Amino acid sequence: MSTYDDQSAVTVLGLGPMGRALAGAFVDAGLRTTVWNRTPGRERELVERGASAAGSAEEAVAASPLTVVCVVNYDASDAILREDAVTAALKGRTVVNLSADTPDRARDTADWAAAHGIRYLDGAIMTATPDIGTPEGVFILSGPKELYDRHQPTLSALGGTHTHLGEDIGRAAAYDIALLDIFWTAMAGYAHALAVARAEGITARELAPFAQGIGAIQGPLFAEFAADVDNGTYSGEINPITSAASTMAHIVHTAESHGIDTSLMRVTEGLARRVIAEGHGTDSFMRVTELLGRTAH
Ligand code: NDP
Repeated sequence: MSTYDDQSAVTVLGLGPMGRALAGAFVDAGLRTTVWNRTPGRERELVERGASAAGSAEEAVAASPLTVVCVVNYDASDAILREDAVTAALKGRTVVNLSADTPDRARDTADWAAAHGIRYLDGAIMTATPDIGTPEGVFILSGPKELYDRHQPTLSALGGTHTHLGEDIGRAAAYDIALLDIFWTAMAGYAHALAVARAEGITARELAPFAQGIGAIQGPLFAEFAADVDNGTYSGEINPITSAASTMAHIVHTAESHGIDTSLMRVTEGLARRVIAEGHGTDSFMRVTELLGRTAH
C-alpha cells in the first residue's frame, strides 16, 4: 500500500505525446510508474520499458500516492477524475494536473478535490515533449507549498526547472495562458510572414535565419518592456508607436497586394492607431497594454 510519503511510485493518467513523455521520464528515473489511458494501446512501449499498465483509472490511482494527469483539457481530466470510483480511490492521495486549461478550471478542480479529501496541485508544462526528462524542461506549479515540497523529489524525476508560483491554485494556469498568448500570436505572425514572403518569391528556408534573428531580438525586449509596463512608463525613444504603425501599414499593403488575409495585422495596427489618436504617439508600442487592460476587472 502506497503512503503519502512514498516517493518511489507515481501514476500517470493520459498517454498522449506529453503523458507518454512524462511517464517515460519517471520510468527512466527508476520510479515504479503506473500508467492508464482512456484508449488502450498507447501504454505498450512504456510497459516494455518497465511501466505497469493499470486496467482502469481507479486501479491506476490506487497504485501510487501521487497521480499526474496530463490530458487535452479539464473536460477530459474531469471525465477521468470525477468518476465515482476514481474519486473514492484518490481520497488521501495527491493529484497534480499538468493538463492545460484556464485558471478558473484549476480553481474549480481544487474546490472539487478539497470536497473529496484529495490533495491537489495544479501545473503546466512550458516546453515540448523532447525536453521532458532533460535539463530543458520547464514546469510551473501552484497550490499548497507544503504539498509541492513533499512531492518535489518525485516530480524532479521529470528533469528541467520546476517553479512553485504561489499558493493561489490558478496561478500556474494564468502564467500558462499568458505565455501561450505570446506563443500563438507569435506563431500566427510567423505563419503570416511566411505567406507574404512566399508571395514575394522567398522560401520559408530562406527567411528562417532572419526570422530567428527577430526572435532573438524579442527576448531582451520582453525584459526591457516588462519594467515599462509595471511602471506605466512607455518611452518610445527607441521606436515611437507612430513609426511602428507605419511599418504595420506596409505589411498590410503588401499582404493585400497579394490577396493575403490581413486581419491579424489590421487588428495590431488598429490598436497602435488608437494609442496615437489618444495623444500617445511618442510612446512605445507597449502602451497598447494600457488600452487592452482598460476593460479588465
Ligand atoms: P493532447 O492534448 O492531444 O491530449 C491527448 C490525451 O488526452 C490522450 O491521453 C487522450 O486520450 C486524452 N483525452 C482527450 N479527451 C479525453 C476524454 N474526454 N477523456 C479522457 N481522456 C481524454 O496531447 P498531449 O499529450 O500532447 O497534451 C496533453 C496536455 O499537455 C495538453 O493539455 C497540452 O496542452 C499539454 N502540453 C503539451 C505539449 C506538447 O508538446 N505536446 C507541450 C506543453 C503542454 P485518448 O488517447 O483516449 O484520446
